[in-house]
Amino acid sequence: MPTSLDAFIRTIADFPKPGIQFKDITPLLADPDALRQTAEALAAPFQGKGITKVVGIEARGFILGPMLASLLGAGFVPARKPGKLPAATRSASYALEYGTDTIEMHADALAADDVVLVHDDVIATGGTAAAAAQLVAEAGSTLAGFSFLVELAFLDGRTVLPPETPVASLFTY
Ligand code: AMP
Repeated sequence: MPTSLDAFIRTIADFPKPGIQFKDITPLLADPDALRQTAEALAAPFQGKGITKVVGIEARGFILGPMLASLLGAGFVPARKPGKLPAATRSASYALEYGTDTIEMHADALAADDVVLVHDDVIATGGTAAAAAQLVAEAGSTLAGFSFLVELAFLDGRTVLPPETPVASLFTY
């Protein structure tokens, strides 16, 4: 039984480019107890909140997102990179340090009566999660919160998320 889950997250310097301290969650995924405890800890703040869908962001939001959805009794909806989803989509673009990026969601993936939790492994600048929130709003669904494994607090990502929406991060650096 792990005493501290954050011991299973390792920092890889200069990946994928110089200056980035990459938070690698693969050791945590590989440990059976750490994996289960992490999923349960992610779900805990949102139990009883009526969540009907977890939106997971490509790619690492696809790993714990479905486990989180299952623990909450919710369905899972992927938010993907452009051109990957086969049916009609909605898209939202967001600023990167240089240029922009885009995520897409199936246009019929969320309904007006859905109560949605947005999940990703890491929040850095917050642009990706904010774009996912925009897609939830365009679907007319209720955004109930954001769930991250790791928050890089020094980048202030939560300041670009919709105000008043709960943000839960398991580990803050
Ligand atoms: P952002 O839009 O800046 O909040 O970036 C969030 C996305 O980039 C997430 O999908 C993360 O998986 C990834 N990401 C950004 N910075 C890191 C980092 N230092 N370590 C691991 N993943 C990161």
